[in-house]
Amino acid sequence: MTLRSAAIGAVERLQRAGHEAYLVGGCVRDRLLGLPEKDYDIATGARPEQVAALFDGTKFVGARFGVSLITFGDHQFEVATFRRDGIYVNHRHPESVDFGTVEDDSTRRDFTMNALFEDPISGTIRDFHGGREDLARRVLRCVGDPTVRFREDALRLMRAVRFAARFGFTIDATTWQAMCDLAPTIQYISPERHRVELNAMLVHPSASRAIRLMEDCGLLEFLLPEIRALHGVEQGTQFHPEGDVFVHTMLVLDHVEPRTVETVWGALLHDVGKPATFARDPETRRISFIDHQRIGAAMADVILERLRFSNEERERISAIVARHMTFMECRNMKQSTLRRFLSGPTIESDLAVHRADCLGSSGQLDYWDFCREALARLPAEQQVMLPKPLIDGRDAIAAGFQPGPALGQLLREAMDLQLDGQLNTREEALSWLAGRATSAG
Ligand code: ATP
Ligand code: MG
Repeated sequence: MTLRSAAIGAVERLQRAGHEAYLVGGCVRDRLLGLPEKDYDIATGARPEQVAALFDGTKFVGARFGVSLITFGDHQFEVATFRRDGIYVNHRHPESVDFGTVEDDSTRRDFTMNALFEDPISGTIRDFHGGREDLARRVLRCVGDPTVRFREDALRLMRAVRFAARFGFTIDATTWQAMCDLAPTIQYISPERHRVELNAMLVHPSASRAIRLMEDCGLLEFLLPEIRALHGVEQGTQFHPEGDVFVHTMLVLDHVEPRTVETVWGALLHDVGKPATFARDPETRRISFIDHQRIGAAMADVILERLRFSNEERERISAIVARHMTFMECRNMKQSTLRRFLSGPTIESDLAVHRADCLGSSGQLDYWDFCREALARLPAEQQVMLPKPLIDGRDAIAAGFQPGPALGQLLREAMDLQLDGQLNTREEALSWLAGRATSAG
């Protein structure tokens, strides 16, 4: 059973039992736009206990908000009882909820295109706020008075940007004015929720449009001032014919592929250290950004910490920023240095960001090709890991070395020779060790 036919089956069961029931929200909008639907939400006049009586194994997920999780035809759906939101406090939570009619339920939804109720049995759509006309005109508009709606819940400011960017819609003038006026209220929303919305915007191919919309309405100033600061930071036209650091960063963000949380943040932050390291040689007029990758990685760390990324994500994304200039050195590296670089745990994302970095500037993919080929030559199991060392600390001690820092240095040297292809077997490594012991002794 397809997801859609299962959703229709669930609606039908509710209706047969005498309840009003519809498909609602994103699935209705996406189908009208001719896009694939991702998940189906159901809205009904049935109370949560009436829903539970009709579907085995129903769970109450948001008992306070009247949301049940049901299973039908092996698919799960959220079924929400029509409700009317009460008073909002602190720009966030509704203080209370009352069950209401389908029209009440449409009125609490954020945008007209998200407030459409489809009856898939009769094939009709209930549209209380002109959502279908807005979809046809490709306009994003709040349900009700935008100022009131954004004051109720400031997260809607980011949702407005996300939907407008994703669908390439314009934003209705009154809605846009309220977004500009209320942009500072985004600070009432927790950083965790900022992160979730930002991630959703950035992984979509329309990411740069979302960044520009956030900038134009004033949200970016509060969410990512470090990205705003990239505007007007001039770069040498030799490497960057495309323009300033902001323009370049947006191109990189658009090009990066695959679009994972790690690659899109790596792309967005790769040059974040440039404003702080900008320098122009007074004689040659040449521009440089010495060590911008290191400063940038430290800044990325602060930004990602502020957005409450997990330690692992934060470390990996900062590493991508720190490593993005290393590609320029790859061709001149010793074999062992190259092997260490290619064995970094983020290498796939590094390559994705580097490729986008090139496509968003010179278009030259020589370094990328070089590294891809070097990686392809490695045995599969070594592409993500360094090979097992041929000798270890016990071998060194057996050969007469004392434990301590010098021994660590010795083993590192052995590993370099191994990676450079000068030591290929354990026997070779042991005899090299014996030789070192004699010369040291
Ligand atoms: P997506 O494709 O991104 O999931 P969606 O429209 O399904 O888009 P959800 O976040 O899944 O968005 O929310 C489902 C529906 O719930 C929305 O279509 C909207 O009607 C309503 N909704 C969600 N969040 C809010 C909010 N903060 N304020 C008002 N209504 C909301
Ligand atoms: Mg959804």
